Amino acid sequence: MRLHEYQAKRVFAKAGIPTPAAELARTVDEAVAAADDIGYPVAIKAQVHVGGRGKAGGIKLVDNAEEAREAADEILGMDLKGYHVDKVLVEEAVDFANELYVGVTMDRGVGRPVAMVSTRGGVNIEEVAEEDPDAIAREHVDPAFGMHDFQARKVVYDAGIRREVASDVASILTTLYDLWEERDGSDIEINPLMVTEDDEVIAADAVFNIDGDALFRQSDLAEMEDEAAEDELEAKANDYGFDYVRLDGNVGIIGNGAGLVMTTLDLVDHYGGSPANFLDVGGGAKADRISNALDMVFSDENVDAVVFNIFGGITRGDEVATGINSALEQFDEIPKPVIVRLAGTKAEEGMEILNTDLVQVEGTLEDAVQAAVAAAEEVQA
Ligand code: GDP
Ligand code: MN
Repeated sequence: MRLHEYQAKRVFAKAGIPTPAAELARTVDEAVAAADDIGYPVAIKAQVHVGGRGKAGGIKLVDNAEEAREAADEILGMDLKGYHVDKVLVEEAVDFANELYVGVTMDRGVGRPVAMVSTRGGVNIEEVAEEDPDAIAREHVDPAFGMHDFQARKVVYDAGIRREVASDVASILTTLYDLWEERDGSDIEINPLMVTEDDEVIAADAVFNIDGDALFRQSDLAEMEDEAAEDELEAKANDYGFDYVRLDGNVGIIGNGAGLVMTTLDLVDHYGGSPANFLDVGGGAKADRISNALDMVFSDENVDAVVFNIFGGITRGDEVATGINSALEQFDEIPKPVIVRLAGTKAEEGMEILNTDLVQVEGTLEDAVQAAVAAAEEVQA
């Protein structure tokens, strides 16, 4: 589960990390009132679960009420990398001298949490991580002991943080580690951690992802989830009880069983396509679940073609086929091409039942995936 920036900042501020004065707004009028309240200049920032909002036009710095109105009007309602923006954070703009990066995540290769610090924070940290990994200092932490003060000081020193701000940065890093551990974090980061001319250190952005399986013991964070699940498709998947992950491609994928769906994702990629989602309808998928699954992929604007990959075990091929037919019969026109591969229990019966006016049936998974990738490409062409 991913917190919004404004939610993460509240958690950080409560733990003693300096954050800019800010107010959340859902309408243009609210945004302007908040900006007037805070005093100009302010930053107006889209609250959606994607990184790189700055580069995508989701963050604007404004100097007066007129500009604030214009920026809020532009950002509210905008589509940011497939996410609808329905709230903005209006925040005191920080006049910074430089931008740092600090974060904690799990290093799965080493099997320990790792604290990271860099003087090259800002919007390009991903490129830095790839092109110049040495520019990010790292320190692994033994979770049995937590992060020692000397470790925080060491990683800050290794990163080349100026002496004047080193102890503030080290203390923020320690706070991040403690939050990560106490609140069952998976990733926590501040990028940028801004340093002003007066050597004040302030969190200008905040990322805090929580292990979804730990929410039962993080009830206050779990409450934020409802507020955070503003992505319609993810909310829908919750309602339907599907395991669903939205991705950024255009080939919709439906399968039964996590491994099968993963395989389909890999194959789509292998044949030059790009998956739009992970959607596991689970075992014993009955007709209504199939029709809910189709509703999910059809309502995703990014999807250009759909591939079904069903392996019949408990799930019977004839039942799935009936489900697909009845779901598609509701449409005057099928919104996107659907390609089906059935195997296993009652697969042959299923393939007989499938209405080929509505779907394309393929005998092998490879053929089905290739057909879906081709169909999606055709839509794009
Ligand atoms: P992200 O692009 O989604 O990671 O959003 P960030 O909150 O990290 O903002 C991206 C960039 O916008 C930052 O690296 C800054 O350069 C700029 N920015 C964000 N907030 C402020 C601010 O308060 N003052 C100034 N001057 N720049 C800001
Ligand atoms: Mn950022």
